[in-house]
Amino acid sequence: MRLIFLGAPGAGKGTLATAISKRHELPQISTGDIFREAVKNETELGRKVRGIMERGELVPDQLTVELVRERLSRPDVREGYILDGFPRTIPQAEALAGFQTIDRVINFRIDEEVVVRRLSGRRVCRSCGAIYHVDNMPPKRENLCDRCGGELYIRDDDTIEAIRKRLEVYERQTEPLIAYYRERELLRDIDSSRSVEHSQAQIEEILSALGSDLRA
Ligand SMILES: [Zn+2]
Repeated sequence: MRLIFLGAPGAGKGTLATAISKRHELPQISTGDIFREAVKNETELGRKVRGIMERGELVPDQLTVELVRERLSRPDVREGYILDGFPRTIPQAEALAGFQTIDRVINFRIDEEVVVRRLSGRRVCRSCGAIYHVDNMPPKRENLCDRCGGELYIRDDDTIEAIRKRLEVYERQTEPLIAYYRERELLRDIDSSRSVEHSQAQIEEILSALGSDLRA
């Protein structure tokens, strides 16, 4: 099964990709991991990526696609994979279609207010980096770390204003991609505003229907 997971920040896409990856023994592939590996191994493409990242620029589509193509030519993905965070743009999606047949694209749908609540409740310990959540994992004493007693703070990324901006950017960037895959009848929506278990059950249902399709 060759899968793509699409989801806004805070939709739980990464967590679910990891869970489904383990359960179905499908490698979880993200461009972040590919870039890091290429840089570490000092491949020719890796040296290019390092230069681009050091200048604080975005890795261009063509180079990203080349790296993904190399990753998807390895034997561990013969039975399939989960692409997590790729493609991001239509040119990337079109390039991918040139060398891979994708079976399903799972689109994590979530209400903006739910994401804002999830992400804005996050607190981080200034001393040890432990992460808390005011609703789901509150510290025993308000604003103090259970582990080391350090002060908890809100990361700049987790302010309500920053979260809304990130969601807006995500939506603007991803809308054409969602339309692209919907037109090709590859897209399946899930509602990820409830628990991880609820999201997982919906994905399992999609994968089992896909399994029957592939066997037929
Ligand atoms: Zn701490």
